[in-house]
This record gives sequence, C-alpha cells and structure tokens, in this order.
Amino acid sequence: MADTINDLTQKLDAYLNDDQIDLVRRAYLCAEKAHSGQTRRSGEPYVTHPLAVAHILADMHMDHQSLAAAMLHDVIEDTEVDKIEIVEQFGSTVAELVDGVSKLTQFEFQTQAEKQAENFQKMAMAMARDLRVILVKLADRLHNMRTLDVLGAEKRRRIAVETLEIYAPIANRLGMNEVRIEFEDLGFGTLYPMRAKRIQAAIEATRGHRKELVTNIETQVGEQLLKDGISATVIGREKHLYSIYQKMRSKSRSFTEIMDVFAFRIIVDSPDDCYRTLGSIHSLYKPRPGHFKDYIAIPKANGYQSLHTVLFGMHGVPIEIQIRTKDMEQMANNGIAAHWLYKANNQDASVGSHARARQWVQGLLELQQNAGNSLEFIENVKIDLFPEEVYVFTPKGKIMELPLGSTAIDFAYAVHTDIGNSCVGCRINRRLAALSQPLQSGQTIEIITAPGANPNPSWLDIIATSRARSQIRHYLKHLKSGESIELGERLLNKSLVTFNSSLDDITDKQQAALVKKSGASNFEEILEEVGLGNRVAYLTARQLLDIHESDAGNNMVIGNREKPLVIAGTEGMMINFAKCCNPIPGDDIGGHITAGRGVVVHLADCRNYHEIQEKDKEGRSVTLRWHDNAEGEYRVELKVEVEQQRGIIASLANKVNSLDGSIESIKVEERDSKSSIIHIFLAVSNRIHLARIIRRIRVLKSVVKVVRVKR
Ligand code: MN
Repeated sequence: MADTINDLTQKLDAYLNDDQIDLVRRAYLCAEKAHSGQTRRSGEPYVTHPLAVAHILADMHMDHQSLAAAMLHDVIEDTEVDKIEIVEQFGSTVAELVDGVSKLTQFEFQTQAEKQAENFQKMAMAMARDLRVILVKLADRLHNMRTLDVLGAEKRRRIAVETLEIYAPIANRLGMNEVRIEFEDLGFGTLYPMRAKRIQAAIEATRGHRKELVTNIETQVGEQLLKDGISATVIGREKHLYSIYQKMRSKSRSFTEIMDVFAFRIIVDSPDDCYRTLGSIHSLYKPRPGHFKDYIAIPKANGYQSLHTVLFGMHGVPIEIQIRTKDMEQMANNGIAAHWLYKANNQDASVGSHARARQWVQGLLELQQNAGNSLEFIENVKIDLFPEEVYVFTPKGKIMELPLGSTAIDFAYAVHTDIGNSCVGCRINRRLAALSQPLQSGQTIEIITAPGANPNPSWLDIIATSRARSQIRHYLKHLKSGESIELGERLLNKSLVTFNSSLDDITDKQQAALVKKSGASNFEEILEEVGLGNRVAYLTARQLLDIHESDAGNNMVIGNREKPLVIAGTEGMMINFAKCCNPIPGDDIGGHITAGRGVVVHLADCRNYHEIQEKDKEGRSVTLRWHDNAEGEYRVELKVEVEQQRGIIASLANKVNSLDGSIESIKVEERDSKSSIIHIFLAVSNRIHLARIIRRIRVLKSVVKVVRVKR
C-alpha cells in the first residue's frame, strides 16, 4: 500500500511547524486536483508519484518549500496549472523550484550522445541556481527508478543509462551516498538483469559462511574499544552490487577475491575519538602499509570525512575499516541534504539559493577548521557550485560549453567560423534576441546567417571567447582595403548620427584637422582603420566634431543594473574593470575606451591609468562616476600577512563568508617558517562592505596586517 498524505503529515510533524505542513498539504491537494483522471502506467492515480517523491524528501528532512515543489513538480508540464497560478497560491520560491525541475525534465530527452553526459551533469548543476531543484529532481528520478518495471524494455534501458551516467554522478558530487548507491544498483539491475541476479545470488551464498567470521571480528573490535574506554558502534558493511561489478570489470578481479574482504564501519562521538579508535584497532590487528587515508584532515571535495584503514585479521583476511563521527556519517550518507537535516527547523527557508549554497560551503569550512586545511578542497567545492561556464544547446540538441558572459556571436564562432562570419542575428529559445545578450545555461541558440554578410568590428566589444576574437580580427585584417573603407564609413556615420551629425555634414577642414592630428596620410586611411576595428567609431566621431569629454557634459554613470552604461553610438559597449587596480563603488574612478575591451575602468589614481592618459593623443579618456545606488559584486584583492597557524585559511574564508563576501580564489606565498602572505581575491558590493570585512579580518589573532592591493 502506497504512503498517503496523512502518513506524510505524520512524518513532517517531527520537524516542521503547522504553517509549513499546511503549505505541503495544500500543494498535495492542488496536485491531486490538477492530475485528476491521469494515471501512471501501473494504473495508480498519478498523484501517487509526486506524493512518493515528497516522501523521499521528507525522509531527508527537506524543508516545506522543497516538499511543496515535489508535489507540484509535474503540473506545469502535464496539467492546466501554470507557473503564475503556483506563484499566487504558493509563492514565488516554490514556483521557481517547480519551474527549475520542469526545465531539467524537458532536457532528459535530448541526451542521446553518451559523451555529452559530463557536460549535462555540469549543466544541470549550473542551471539549478537553487540547489533544492537538483534535490527534488533526484528524488523524482529515484521514485521513477523504483517503479521502472511497468515500462517497456527500450524506455527502461534509456532511463537506466541516463541514471547511471548523469544522476548517479550528480548525487555523488553532492555527497548523497545512499541515493547514489540506490541509483547504481537499480540502474545496473535494469541494464544487466542477468549479471545483477548472478552477483546477488553469489553474495547470498557467501553470506552464510562469512557470518561467523564477521561476528568474530565485530566482537574482537568491540571488546578492544571497550577496553580502551571508547564508546562506539561497530557495523559490518556489505558492498553494493554495482560496486562489486565495477571492481570485477575495472580491476578484473574475481568475485571471490572481492568478497574476501571484510568491511566495517565504526561510529564514534568526536573527531578525537576517531584517531583514538584508529590507534586502538591498529594495536589489535596489523595495519596494511600504504592503505591509511585521513579524509578528516583533508575531506573529499563533496565534504566526505572519515578515516580509512586496511588491516590483516586472523589468518590474514583483509579487513577494511572506516572510522567517523555521527555528523560525518550524516554527511557521508546524505551529503548536501544533511544541511537541511539539521537546519530544517529554521523558519527562514526562503533565504536565497545562493546564500544556501554558500551556507553549505561555510558548513564545510567549519568542519575544515578543526582539521587543518587544504586549498584544493576549497577550490573544488567552489568549482562545483559556482561554475564559470554556461552550457547551451544547438538546435539539434548538442551541448556547447562556453565561458560565462559569452554571447550568440561566441556561440556562432564556436560552431563554425563560416557561421560566425555570416551571422546577422539569433534566436534564443526560438525567440529573436539581441546578439549582445549574454547566454544562460540551458538555452537553445540558433544563429541566423545571410549570404554575403560580414563580421562587424563592434562585435569585438561583446564577445568573451578568444576564438571569436581571433576569427573576427583575422577576417577584418584580410578585408580588401576598399571593403574596409566602406565598412568604416558606415560605422562612422552611425556614430555621427548620435551627435546629430552625419558624414555628409563633415567639412573638408574637419577631415583635414583629424588627419593631421592623428598622423594618418589621408581621411580614407582613418575610415579603413575604423573598418578594421583598430579605431573606435565613437571616438573618431567625437574627434571629428571636436567634442571634448569635458564639454560633452554628460559624463557616464556606471554600476546600475537597470541602466547599464550606455554611450551614444556604441550600442552597449562592454565595461571592463582594470585588473591592475580593481575599482569598487565608492572609489574615485576614470576610464578609457579601447578597440577590443570596450570601456576600461580604473582607479583615478591608478599608476597605469596615469600612464595611459599621458600617452593618449586621441582623447580616449572618459569621465566616469558610480551610480548613487551602484549594484553588483566587484572584485578586489586583499593581502593578508599572518603568523603561521593551522586552519588560518579556513578562518579567513569563514570571516569573509559570514559577511557575504564571496571568495574567488586564495593564493599563499610562504615567506619563512614563521609567517606567510595570503592573497584573497573576493567580490564585494562597495567600499563600506570591504571596510567591514577588513575590520573583521584584522581582529583575528594570527593576522598581522591586512591591506587592499592597488597597483
Ligand atoms: Mn516526476
């Protein structure tokens, strides 16, 4: 008999309040109504599926919003209920979760190519800005795997392959071991039913004569720990089907060889006890050299912590032992979901997804603090959670990986140079869109080409890949002189129009003045340079009209999200923040316009900027000021001098995190045995925010000095 909504309510009673439970119940009723008349293949009413998914999540103690989203996860796709209605009834967070799960579901059918599996995993992670989307999706997939029997052979196979290639690795990446193992065993059993049956039978056959030995070892270990005054739980472990199968294949070992190993897990109260336990059992059995691993001091990237060792038992039987605390056990089994397991009573489940992810990272960092540190670990966690890439589809369903900030033009050049060169427009998710619009993971991009079309030098300002840049440059360089003059004319004219002028209005005198000033041999040469992308049309127009930055009057304002910098005639020129001085809101700034990188913003007193201004003959400088309510995150570099201390990096990272600064990377230079210099690259919202962070870091005991790096 399937679990009912009342069973679920009982489960939720243990960790949610009445209002929260009410939300979940309302979501159930809504789903029941929306799916009424629909049945599953098994003949059961459809709503039993979302209900079962919610049960899975409730067992992980997931919050009420995730559970409501689980109830509603199929309504957008399969019923009349739409996102707007979900927003009205359950709030925008639940609606976003449901929407996210629906989007992931849509893409399931596009993953024909096996080599795309890894990209798909990354894309799924990148798309789910709220990690709860992934957790709901995993639970959905888990229930589908558990009820796969009723489907046809072909569909079963496809779902099993996808589960093994995509969902099991995602569960693994998030440290959700129990879910991963179930995915693997169900997937394996579906793909290779005969092999699974044979291995299962062999396990059962050996279980009989293993039993005595297992009990013996358990007793010996238990007595030894008792003697040493350690309170512990000793559990015998059996390897799961799929891992046995994989070991047999990858290490071509026989079943007996693999099953000859006896595996135990010891759960103790504190990290200290873990090490004491290790010492205790090492005095009981001889350890096998080279097989000890300390994942407590250096956790795996997904947060897994434990001590591993291999011992020789009586008659030389190998014994594998894992030692960990209850908390570590939770983390090992439930991974990221363990976070909700502990914090489920927290009323504020609506905190932003980003904040949640950050909390998780911070939780890991706290674990980290007790145990020294590993920079690589921090880096791994970050790479997994905040990918620097976007993953988009071609119209045929192939996945392309591009750097963050890429546009349709980057995409076009990534597909083929000819597509890039003849690109005139694009459709994003079947809708016409601007070529300059940054792409987002999960979008389908279609490039519109026209025969005889040419790359536009202004594209150099809106692309992110070096491939597109070099291809555009290559094309422009090989333009015949006549063509580039024509192109330059067109571009310059467009810019002049924004100053209420046009090429026809420009007098010979004005032309001659610019030719003289710039050292060109004639005006055509200037037009050619514009056409080749070596001169910025906007600046050339300003020089022709002899408009100076100072009397232009309208200095540019940056840092506001709704009105990003718009410079007349440049159609959304890109803004870059100089890496030499990393300006942030509150700083005095200046900028200059470049042909390749749009407007580059410097600190007003940056040394590089002064040099650029001195050499500047063309009036590339622009006056800039921050918007009064500048938004966004800006990169800064801090140099922290510390006395050598274990765990200092984790403490620093913790402090920065607790003040909502996000760390991009950390570099350590060791000076001598007593002190080191740590460079932290982090994103802050403005000077006040930065000052707060610096103050917090300064009071740390081993910190000698903190300065912001400006070159
Ligand atoms: Mn479903």
